[in-house]
Amino acid sequence: MNFKDTKTAYAYKSAKELKSALFVYKIITKPFMVRAGKFFLNIALALHIPVKPFTNFMFKQFCGGENLDEVLKVSDNIGKFNVKTIPDYSIEGVSNTESFEKLVKELKKVIDIAGKDKNIPFAVFKPTGLIKAEYLQNSFPLNNQALDDYKTRLKDIFDYASKKHVPVLVDAEDFMYQDRIDEILLDFMKLYNREKAIVFTTLQIYRKDRLDYLNFLTDMAKRENFRIGIKFVRGAYMEKERQRAKDGGYPDPINETKEVTDYNYNKAIGISVENIKHVEIFCGTHNEDSVLKLTELMKKYDIRNDDNRIYFSQLYGMRDNISFNLAAEGYNVAKYVPYGPIKEVMPYLVRRAEENSSMGSQAKSEKNMIKMEISR
Ligand SMILES: Cc1cc2nc3c(=O)[nH]c(=O)nc-3n(C[C@H](O)[C@H](O)[C@H](O)COP(=O)(O)OP(=O)(O)OC[C@H]3O[C@@H](n4cnc5c(N)ncnc54)[C@H](O)[C@@H]3O)c2cc1C
Repeated sequence: MNFKDTKTAYAYKSAKELKSALFVYKIITKPFMVRAGKFFLNIALALHIPVKPFTNFMFKQFCGGENLDEVLKVSDNIGKFNVKTIPDYSIEGVSNTESFEKLVKELKKVIDIAGKDKNIPFAVFKPTGLIKAEYLQNSFPLNNQALDDYKTRLKDIFDYASKKHVPVLVDAEDFMYQDRIDEILLDFMKLYNREKAIVFTTLQIYRKDRLDYLNFLTDMAKRENFRIGIKFVRGAYMEKERQRAKDGGYPDPINETKEVTDYNYNKAIGISVENIKHVEIFCGTHNEDSVLKLTELMKKYDIRNDDNRIYFSQLYGMRDNISFNLAAEGYNVAKYVPYGPIKEVMPYLVRRAEENSSMGSQAKSEKNMIKMEISR
């Protein structure tokens, strides 16, 4: 596997698009530019000044469009290179019955398309997109109408997906909501994941307890003869979780060091490949070592590159060198492609910019690869 093959990595982009990508990476690798951009963006949003003209270049880099039709154009384009698309409706910050129903409707649209289009292998949603987050905390009573309504919405989605044979990924968010989500999703996995995984939960491996939870899940799947669908990620909210634990006076749920998280991630993948009869793996990472580790394990266990129980995934606009080179070798690869009205996906865009500016070396290496490809 050659992750430095920039010709393969960026074949889907025109020269003009590559130059635009380079411009984006030049900006987001400068933390002061990102801070200044965020400051002016907040002012513009508060004053209701249209933000589209000066955020469009970022939007184009990291999002698939404002609606599903635009995402499908992206999907057709990257699909030519064997890279699939997971449309991710990324509206954030609204949380009421209307927004929950809107999300259910949108997910059903994605599921309909995914049922027919080989370039769309999954649907995805954030668990707090369908309920007010506070109801997911352990301190809230289990018997309440909001949770019942939540389960009804989830059942509606999974029923629909099951009929169309489309697997659905459920993202993981804050630690304080995850116990409830785990409990609910496990019941749904037992119900829907008989022949293949329809319901995929997410394990954030930066959590100290997640290897134990993985072993618990695999044991149960073997005993009760169903499949576990798991998206493996390292976890996106480390600083927030550490601070919250400190403020709340409870033990930090996150591993002490990055090395432990890295070790556990690879270990979790190993456990899952060993139990591939009962576990379907969705490897959501930008970490090259972890990606290579999984490809080596697949070889060791004689699993074909395109075995549909194993998927690799990166975010749209990031780490194309991993996605497109894996796809060229015949592995199953899908990009998370966020979409939604530009103003409403702003929080997502700001997060991508901040994350890239704080990650330093990864974003710089991405910038250098784009430069290399332009020169080539
Ligand atoms: C397709 C896809 C889907 C995703 N879905 C989700 C999701 O549902 N929920 C979610 O939370 N995140 C999600 N993420 C983000 C993911 O959790 C990571 O934040 C991001 O991918 C960076 O991690 P990495 O595996 O790519 O590798 P790297 O860049 O090698 O690792 C960075 C990660 O390591 C961990 N880490 C860093 N420093 C330390 C430390 N000192 N101690 C302990 N751990 C540390 C953190 O988790 C950090 O994000 C998703 C990512 C992708 C690509």
